[in-house]
Amino acid sequence: MPDLTGQVAFVTGGSRGIGAAIATRLAQDGADVAFTYRADKRSADETAGRIRAAGRTALAIQADSAEPHAATESVDTVVRNLGRLDILVANAGIFPNGPLDDVTLDEIDQTLAIHVRAPLLAAQAAAAHMGDGGRLIAIGSCYAERVPVPGVTLYSMTKSALTGLVKGLARDLGPRGITANVVHPGPTDTDMNPADGPDAEAERALTALGRYGTGADVAGMVAFLASQEGAWVTGASFAVDGGYAA
Ligand code: NDP
Repeated sequence: MPDLTGQVAFVTGGSRGIGAAIATRLAQDGADVAFTYRADKRSADETAGRIRAAGRTALAIQADSAEPHAATESVDTVVRNLGRLDILVANAGIFPNGPLDDVTLDEIDQTLAIHVRAPLLAAQAAAAHMGDGGRLIAIGSCYAERVPVPGVTLYSMTKSALTGLVKGLARDLGPRGITANVVHPGPTDTDMNPADGPDAEAERALTALGRYGTGADVAGMVAFLASQEGAWVTGASFAVDGGYAA
């Protein structure tokens, strides 16, 4: 099991779903964990409880990633309260979908702000506090690699931007020993994409393994990348998708 003892991790969108699984896993591996949530305080309290049950310090921060200054201010809050920052996981996301003709300017701006601008600003702010061994990890989507259905142009465009983000960050920050990678989950059982939802059968059929993943499946890859074992991995994209992109 990766050992993150003494490290501080910051996960955006950690109250529910994949982000909550990542926050919990990093705490179980030894890290103190801060995370943001947008509105669901009850779920945020539950995630904080799981982090504390692992024996680590938890810090829940209410912050909307769509706001221009949320990423920078949240990183400042993490460092002020937990003393350092070693691991950033840019996970917060939404799922705009529907006919191309219905995509609005507001929806485009909001999705770009959450999926693209916020991860860049968070990485910029976090890297300023990181030394050798710092880890920047973004959560993308299998739709960044393969788009087998209509109605997700905006979503897939913003998720594929993360592939370029981590390649650029790898080059900018490699000389300082900081790595940057993106994990692309496939259909994962969360509130965003429930395994018993209306599209679940079709999604399941598009995987090679014929099943949904769990937040823990994604968290395992994140924990590896966050650890010392991931030290030689940077600028890379990892499908954790049951073979969705195969
Ligand atoms: P959920 O909707 O289940 O959870 C989303 C989490 O992000 C919640 O903690 C939510 O906070 C938070 N969040 C949403 N918007 C904002 C915002 N504007 N500012 C701050 N926090 C926010 O989503 P998933 O766990 O399924 O998805 C997590 C990531 O994984 C996303 O980036 C998604 O695109 C990606 N992904 C998911 C897949 C899936 O099948 N589930 C597949 C591929 C990628 P709150 O609780 O307060 O609402």
